[in-house]
Amino acid sequence: MSININPNANDPSYRYKMEKINTYQTGRGGNCHTVLDNIINISSQLNTAPDILVNYIGNVLGCNTIKTQHNNNNYIYNLKGHYQTDKIQEIIYNFIVFATLCNKCNIPELTPDVINKGKHSTLNMKCSACGKSYELIGNNKYNLKLVESMIKYYTLNTFVAKKGTMVTKTDNLNEFNPF
Ligand SMILES: [Zn+2]
Repeated sequence: MSININPNANDPSYRYKMEKINTYQTGRGGNCHTVLDNIINISSQLNTAPDILVNYIGNVLGCNTIKTQHNNNNYIYNLKGHYQTDKIQEIIYNFIVFATLCNKCNIPELTPDVINKGKHSTLNMKCSACGKSYELIGNNKYNLKLVESMIKYYTLNTFVAKKGTMVTKTDNLNEFNPF
């Protein structure tokens, strides 16, 4: 099922879509887990790394997260404990509002960039839709931790924008010509 990335966008033709989170619960007692079934697809639709998103979900819920390798390069992400799908979807929306949508135009076209190294690192977000560039600053304890984990991740890994989501500037070859 496809839903709007921006939880406040009611326009049915809104172009930025993602999958609704699917989860299932396994185990019992001290060995229960919630499997985040399609979190890799969702991360890709949000232009973020699954590690970043899953760490954020675990941090908000106050639970451990487990990443296990399964066939070559496929990973399965799960949470320790049983959690409701709706709650996890709500946390994903909070992530999106803070870290995926531009704070000026609300379009999910941000490219993160780590400024400086070590202790003085900050995270800059640049919007390819409206051109705004701003520092992402955590406004609560979860978001502070999220910014930290994004700085850590993008210090070690290059941001790769998913093709087909970001606006590509197309040359305007059919400019209006009155003659
Ligand atoms: Zn923008």
